[in-house]
Amino acid sequence: MAIHSRHLLAIEGLHPPQIAAMLDLAESYVLLSRTGTTPRDRLRGRTLINLFFEDSTRTRTSFELAGKRLGADVINMPVATSSVNKGETLLDTASTLNAMNCDLLVIRHASSGAPALLARKVDAAVINAGDGTHEHPTQALLDALTIRRRLGGLQGLVVAICGDILHSRVARSNIHLLSAMGSRVRVVGPPTLIPPEAERLGIEVFHDMKAGLAGADVVMALRLQQERMTGGLVPSTREYFRFFGLDAEKLAYAKPQALVMHPGPMNRGVEIASRVADDPDRSVIREQVEMGVAVRMAVLDMLAHAGIPGGPRP
Ligand code: ASP
Repeated sequence: MAIHSRHLLAIEGLHPPQIAAMLDLAESYVLLSRTGTTPRDRLRGRTLINLFFEDSTRTRTSFELAGKRLGADVINMPVATSSVNKGETLLDTASTLNAMNCDLLVIRHASSGAPALLARKVDAAVINAGDGTHEHPTQALLDALTIRRRLGGLQGLVVAICGDILHSRVARSNIHLLSAMGSRVRVVGPPTLIPPEAERLGIEVFHDMKAGLAGADVVMALRLQQERMTGGLVPSTREYFRFFGLDAEKLAYAKPQALVMHPGPMNRGVEIASRVADDPDRSVIREQVEMGVAVRMAVLDMLAHAGIPGGPRP
């Protein structure tokens, strides 16, 4: 197996030293970003293309900012008005982009596996910015960085991921990362929104917020992804909030200072109450966004240079 990974397609398969190396570099970029002293020559002469086939606010913007803070030339492909909309296949798009000699290709796509397919066809380093219900690796890294900075580490923490686990690539990436780094991961949600493979992943499954949140250090609420639902998996959003919405009453089941997280975009009053989301003593949702830029700087930096170090030696 390669010592250095050339792409970032998933968290699954990464080794703890690789994850730690990305978090450590990101940590240094948090401080440099805050003081406005990021090394603008780090990615000078490199081209980054953002190719988002699905909507995004935080992720696309933060990849753009991350690239610019390191001096890269950043291009946002307007997918809605490009040839992709004229029926061009993903592979034709890939070969077009390849001919432009770009160095870093960030892709979000509704199909699980699309970034991996692209990675086989282009010379650029490919970064998965969310593929279907599969993975969203930089989200898990930024979540881990947020937790690590607040709680001092990841080892031994109880992390409860709540809500629509079935459709969540964020949940999948977090399950792999947190388990690899020694946290105890629980998923909490109605049976219709828990994937059948949950137990096989070595995580605890709960269908009740009281039991699932008991003693948790971190409570992560996930968006109800109605755009990915084919049938009626929840009775109504009001009913859903009553049983699974993270409000102050349910948060009280967790540890007294438990962190509240959400990857965004939030559906207030559906999976999370405004009072909890905006509670400055508990919610780290805004900090997650800041960490997102630092993590993406670290990932772009590593992939543009030697790759992700720290894998197993052959
Ligand atoms: N922004 C995250 C994602 O793209 C979470 C969400 O959409 O709910 O997966």
